[in-house]
Amino acid sequence: MEKIDIKSLTLIQLSELLESLKEPSFRAVQLFEWIHKKLASGFEEMTNLPKTLRENLEKCCEYTTLKTVQELHSKNDDTCKYLFQLSDGNMIESVRMSYHHGDSVCISSQAGCRMGCRFCASTLDGLTRNLTPSEMLEEIYQIERITQKRLNNVVIMGTGEPLDNYENLVQFLHLLFEERGQNFSQRSVTISTCGLVEQIKRLAQEDFNITLALSLHAPTDALRSQLMPIANQYPLSEVIKACDYYYERTGRRVSYEYSLIDGVNDTPIIAKQLVQLLRGKNCHVNLIPINPVKERGFTPPKGNNTQRFKNILEKNKINVTIRREMGTDIDAACGQLRKRYMDQTIKKKGGEL
Ligand code: SAH
Repeated sequence: MEKIDIKSLTLIQLSELLESLKEPSFRAVQLFEWIHKKLASGFEEMTNLPKTLRENLEKCCEYTTLKTVQELHSKNDDTCKYLFQLSDGNMIESVRMSYHHGDSVCISSQAGCRMGCRFCASTLDGLTRNLTPSEMLEEIYQIERITQKRLNNVVIMGTGEPLDNYENLVQFLHLLFEERGQNFSQRSVTISTCGLVEQIKRLAQEDFNITLALSLHAPTDALRSQLMPIANQYPLSEVIKACDYYYERTGRRVSYEYSLIDGVNDTPIIAKQLVQLLRGKNCHVNLIPINPVKERGFTPPKGNNTQRFKNILEKNKINVTIRREMGTDIDAACGQLRKRYMDQTIKKKGGEL
């Protein structure tokens, strides 16, 4: 019999499980708090639960934990990258960034990715599998255990396409927001997507108060489809319409992510096309000089071209910021640490043969 992934169960589902084990209903809250608030690392810590119950749970449930394989601290700023191992041996990475207003964490939603963006390291080896709600939660919980601090912001912008793992993502969010657990503020969560139109509309209807970030990277279909294969499936007009719908429905301003690549999408003409696309929208543009990925051959804008691009948007009354680059010395760009680790492991294995 397959074990139940207990950390992925909502409070209601947990009550049903305990009912089936003939336990009183108040135990569900106790158990939920041990898992999601006190961040217990196993059933044995749950000392106010009867021993027989703990033994029963041990038998029928899987208690998801992550093994911390590597912790890389950046020299330049307060950024730390974590390489975690899942119970099946797969690797994922998460990044913690400290700001004056608190700590943010960038978590992965999949092991690998199948979206194929040309500039991204996460997708080089394709998708291995979706992460479960409990594995996504554990990225947060494990960092909170290590730092002994509550995290203030969660961005789902690490490896993977969160909307390609929709059901698990939504279950993860419900668990994160549960009052009896982390009681996390919905406004402090951002989900980044390459633009899966149907799922953006679906997410708008979930009635969450979270921010949607759309990875735009180009103002025209012709250029976007050179950078992002997903653009062949959904034209920009549909993607933008879905984002407008998200804003109308939730009242949350959409963030457009724009990674600048030298000579590809950073020219003044392209900046003006971007103005045309976004003019009059209550939105925000985040400019990110591309993080060079060895296998990809793209480089960030030269000289002050990032600033030049920003000025054109500003002059046209578009809210824009240049994202502070953090942790480039520790491979903080999407999927770089995981990729390097996997390549080294493969090399080592190859050497043994
Ligand atoms: N799949 C989601 C979330 C993961 S990627 C998405 O596409 O939004 C998180 C962000 O980093 C996206 O905006 C992505 O386009 C961007 N990104 C990926 N590789 C990058 C790189 N090498 N340099 C700068 N940004 C990158």
